[in-house]
Amino acid sequence: MRIRTEQIKEAGRHYTFSEPASAFPVLDEMEKAGECRFYSSVAVELTAAKEMDCYRITGSLSVPVGLCCSRCLADFEQTLSSRFTFFFHESKYNEQPDEEELELAEQDLVSVTFQGDEIDLLPEIGEQAALSIPLKPLCSDLCKGLCPVCGADNNKEACNCGQSLEFSKFSALRNFKVNSSQIPDKNRL
Ligand SMILES: [Zn+2]
Ligand SMILES: [Zn+2]
Repeated sequence: MRIRTEQIKEAGRHYTFSEPASAFPVLDEMEKAGECRFYSSVAVELTAAKEMDCYRITGSLSVPVGLCCSRCLADFEQTLSSRFTFFFHESKYNEQPDEEELELAEQDLVSVTFQGDEIDLLPEIGEQAALSIPLKPLCSDLCKGLCPVCGADNNKEACNCGQSLEFSKFSALRNFKVNSSQIPDKNRL
């Protein structure tokens, strides 16, 4: 995932890359830690353009990933996608970039320094892909999760535990809709 800077012109040039997730150290680590599974390569499309004092890389990535639902613990597959813009500044004098200053100036735009006549996109793309993986994956926004009392998967079967916690049958029925969407996720069990 390298671009030779001499190929980058002001008009911009289009590139596509496909790289197995295991080629990205940050993604490889996540997979080995059991946080997710990658079913196929990370696909990247981008445009590189020369600007006044830097190279602007704009594009998107997508990768199919297997995740575990944080509410019902079921495995599911989701294709993650993410858009990015990086500014690569050439560092000619082995200077160390002042990261604090760059963060303040660019906010959500990523500014990176590089040396030599090639830009290596691998670290930034890997970081971007890792950021697109949800911290609390959900198989569906409507996932009802596991019952905290009896452990039943409330997506597959309804149990009566929620009702017996109520003071009366009447209030249980009246609040049924609200309760079914408020079943705690696994982190609160
Ligand atoms: Zn779920
Ligand atoms: Zn239950």
